[in-house]
Amino acid sequence: MEALSLTKTDWEERLAAWGQPAYRAAQVLEWIYQRRVRDWREMSNLPAVLRERLETEFPAARLVKIRETGARDTTRKFLFRLADGQLIESVLIPASPALYGEASDRRTICISSQVGCAYGCKFCASGLEGWKRNLTAGEIVDQFLQVEAESGEKINNIVFMGMGEPMANYDNLLRAIGILNAPWGVGVGARHMTVSTSGLVPRIRDLGEQPLQVRLAISFHGATDDVRGRIMPVNKKYPVEELLAACEDYVRLKKQRLTFEFILIRDINDSPEQARLLARQARRVNAKVNLIPYNTVEGLEWDRPDEVQQEAFLKILQQAGIEATLRREKVHDIAAACGQLRLQVEKSVAETPVLI
Ligand code: SAH
Ligand code: SF4
Repeated sequence: MEALSLTKTDWEERLAAWGQPAYRAAQVLEWIYQRRVRDWREMSNLPAVLRERLETEFPAARLVKIRETGARDTTRKFLFRLADGQLIESVLIPASPALYGEASDRRTICISSQVGCAYGCKFCASGLEGWKRNLTAGEIVDQFLQVEAESGEKINNIVFMGMGEPMANYDNLLRAIGILNAPWGVGVGARHMTVSTSGLVPRIRDLGEQPLQVRLAISFHGATDDVRGRIMPVNKKYPVEELLAACEDYVRLKKQRLTFEFILIRDINDSPEQARLLARQARRVNAKVNLIPYNTVEGLEWDRPDEVQQEAFLKILQQAGIEATLRREKVHDIAAACGQLRLQVEKSVAETPVLI
């Protein structure tokens, strides 16, 4: 395992096995997470032999930034290359009023959990080329550290809404959440982390039993099995009713509100009928609803409904007493949804015989 996948206990055990005194683990963790030093040779209060051993056992395998788009105060995307050459992306979002209200000092990182995705939702860039592999806990944690380092911004909110299905990489996800949350680690409050899932019912139940108060967002996208099943293959395995039952249990166990994400796709799920059914389901589990006009993905046929239709959908929810928001950004960002930047770069890499 690489250094960033290790918990405090892991470090204590490892360093004790190397004959080090008990306080070493805290020193190492302070260098990594508080001082943000990654070069073992710079850790000046560690004995030279230990630094050498760390260097041998944990050669730096950082994420390497190979592309960045956007600028300060806008959404910024970072494309990273992993040690084995695979590409993932992380997104830094300044304040996200559409998603989380008007809190203005909120800076959110959208983190990837896998390379590609096996769930193949018909509208999504991440699923287009299938699943390559799970990210390690360290690769998940490193996205946070690297985006803070690259941007110079302090990040106080985490959403697992990047590439991949976080619940399908459950063990590494929980390990990473533990490290991101720990006072000896990154120190982000669990309530400031949101796991988004396409609806893996057994994992929703598992997460419900975890003591951590992480938030849950459900990628709903269809209020009936017919509509949802058409765009999300996972719905065949875990249909709407089973998903809602798992949400009910989650809410009861956690005493926490969850969020339904609902991408508005023209002529697919944007009818008043879908809005009315969605309102009923959101009320049943007391969920908030985030409406997200679909972002076009190169190579996919889908589009977003016009603004009048988007507003009408929102109004039906609000009139039914549901707390709902609609993302209203005007420009179609060509690489706005996670997974799209990687896709573009992989295409251009495939077209040019030059290694990036
Ligand atoms: N696999 C998880 C988390 C990653 S997707 C999940 O599906 O929830 C994060 C969110 O981005 C999901 O709600 C997903 O449906 C949405 N998304 C994917 N492609 C999109 C697109 N082209 N436009 C808008 N949102 C999109
Ligand atoms: Fe995977 Fe989520 Fe994209 Fe569906 S929406 S293909 S689950 S990343």
